[in-house]
Amino acid sequence: MKYQKNITFESLKKRISSYITDEKELNLISKAYKFAEEKHFGQKRLTGDDYIIHPLNVAYILTSIKADADTLSAALLHDVIEMCGVKEEEIEKKFGKNIASLVKGVTTLNRLNFSGDSEAVINNQRKILVGLSEDVRVIIIKLADRLNNLQTMYVLSPEKQKETAKETLDILTPIADRLGINSIKQDLEEYCLRYLKPDEYYDIVEKLNATKAERDEAVRKMIEAVDDLLNKHGIKHETKGRSKSIYSIYKKLDKGKRFSDIYDLLALRIYVDTEQECYQALGIIHSKFKPKPKRFKDYIAMPKTNMYQSLHTTVFGVDGQLYEIQIRTYDMDKVAEYGIASHWSYKEKGSNVKAAMQNDMEKKLQFFRTIMDLKNTEEDPEKFVNTVKEEVFHNTIYVFTPKGDVIELPKGATPVDFAYKVHSSVGDRTSGAIVNSNMVPLDYELHNEDIVKIITNNKSPSREWLKFVKTTQAKNKIKAYFNKANKQENLKKGEDILIKELKKNKISSAEFFEEENSKKLLAELKFNSFEELYIALGSSKLTAEAVIAANNRQLPSKEEKVLEKIKGKEKREFSNSLIRVPGINDIKVNLAMCCCPVPMDKIIGYITKGYGITVHRIECPNVAKLDERLIKVEWNKTNEKVPTNILIKSNLESNVIIDVVSKANNNEITVSSFNNHRMKDSNTLELTVLVKDKEQLDKFITSLEMINNIISVEREMK
Ligand code: MN
Repeated sequence: MKYQKNITFESLKKRISSYITDEKELNLISKAYKFAEEKHFGQKRLTGDDYIIHPLNVAYILTSIKADADTLSAALLHDVIEMCGVKEEEIEKKFGKNIASLVKGVTTLNRLNFSGDSEAVINNQRKILVGLSEDVRVIIIKLADRLNNLQTMYVLSPEKQKETAKETLDILTPIADRLGINSIKQDLEEYCLRYLKPDEYYDIVEKLNATKAERDEAVRKMIEAVDDLLNKHGIKHETKGRSKSIYSIYKKLDKGKRFSDIYDLLALRIYVDTEQECYQALGIIHSKFKPKPKRFKDYIAMPKTNMYQSLHTTVFGVDGQLYEIQIRTYDMDKVAEYGIASHWSYKEKGSNVKAAMQNDMEKKLQFFRTIMDLKNTEEDPEKFVNTVKEEVFHNTIYVFTPKGDVIELPKGATPVDFAYKVHSSVGDRTSGAIVNSNMVPLDYELHNEDIVKIITNNKSPSREWLKFVKTTQAKNKIKAYFNKANKQENLKKGEDILIKELKKNKISSAEFFEEENSKKLLAELKFNSFEELYIALGSSKLTAEAVIAANNRQLPSKEEKVLEKIKGKEKREFSNSLIRVPGINDIKVNLAMCCCPVPMDKIIGYITKGYGITVHRIECPNVAKLDERLIKVEWNKTNEKVPTNILIKSNLESNVIIDVVSKANNNEITVSSFNNHRMKDSNTLELTVLVKDKEQLDKFITSLEMINNIISVEREMK
């Protein structure tokens, strides 16, 4: 595509009208043009042209891939924020959210560009890569913007030209290639070659010119022969000659080929309606013109990773010359030329073009998934960008799965890289590999077009693989596997350590893990969950002592302080005289902590090996299953006071502590400790009291229930 130095909006609109017919959409584009024209008025490009010529050209380039109205409008407006100080809000008000966000996206990409230092370049490239995941249309506008800048770069110094060309080949043409936007990609490459290697470029142009008449004639003859042949067989088709890209010729020369040896300079393309006709046409052509061995490629059955489909063959044609022939349907042609942008030409009323494009990228474009994967695991922008360039964009090879799917890998990749690229679960279980029917070692270097089959029966990957895998993706996944395995191990270990330490320090786990306490503790130690804390303990990044110390530092709440002053100081051990076990003398007896029985409660004993007998309330759920160890016990009559726990639920906003304490005093009950649990919609006080017996306790509970704001009172049963 040539630079349109004298472009007018009228000529642009004419091209647009060839595929956009909706009046509303055309009016929107006109409005965008008028706005941009007004804003850029008086500004000039370095070429001396009016500035508006640049956005007009960018939009013009985008018509070659049939860009939609939003994208064209955004292309016309793409420099008004940066060059004219227009606010994004104003664009949104006038042109809507979609266009505003496209313009904003392009502005952000251009803003950091070429400030010269390498950090800015890296950051900009990262933005381009990440931008793919947001709205690929921004990147497509960027490609067109760059193409027009290259077209007018003759005004800049050779250094600047080379710098821009290098950066374009570094990242933008590979993106255009992977997105399948062939037409823009070829133009970009050609301009880059012209600036980077002017001698080679003009040498090729000259040679092509010198042979042009001859080649045109040869192609014309061959088209005639092919048309005759296909017509005779009743295949409806069109045939066109096609010129090879200068850049692809340069690549071949660069690999050591001589110009006269490049045999696919004569090239034509056949368009048919259906896939079946592609194969029919191919068969008919091969029956008349012998194919050159090993030159046939079936990209219909096995599409390229950028969705490209066609049949390629090279045949000995008229006059014994070699011709490269491509056969494809019209639909395949759209994808071959526009790639991801072909959605524009399939656009249906009301369809969401952006969503369709993003969806296609995610589902169909390997490079996109790889980039997103790397983005998620690599935080350092320089490493991320360099890895994408080295492993995704340059020096790639294409290998096949046994089903014929194409997998894109960097040069030097091994079967393990392949396995992880297919799926991480395949990678993790890889035990062997068969390449082209031969068993190969796992560090085998794969080559273009290898067919790779992975044998999976291992349970886990091997750390040894890290020594030879090529892709960062595989490395990350192997490391992630071992980190995860370690995590599980450390989690278990850490939990054991903590439980032991709690026992050692006689801290009840109920108290320790109580909601409020856990929250404070985790916050103080800067963990989000006990899982994290266990992992830190298990991997020795944290000591158990530090956890206990932090636990002991938890300061009592305000209410607790009030209580501290008034609570009874006595902490008595109750004696065995409290409980009698009929038929047994001299046995150690404890009152169970879970249900805290008090005299007059119906009770039962439970024989604990080495600890004597623990006494529970008969309704305590903890004794239900333990019948064969149960033993009958009875209360002795004593004046000893016994601790028990009650739970008082009250309204959230009320403070019932003082009332509770005064009721306790009235009933001659000692409050010995107190815990406040604030829940979402209520407050629960856990009260430990010393009481004479059940009668006294019940009276106390009844009196508590009379207090306003108290919802319920019950004895605790853990
Ligand atoms: Mn621009």
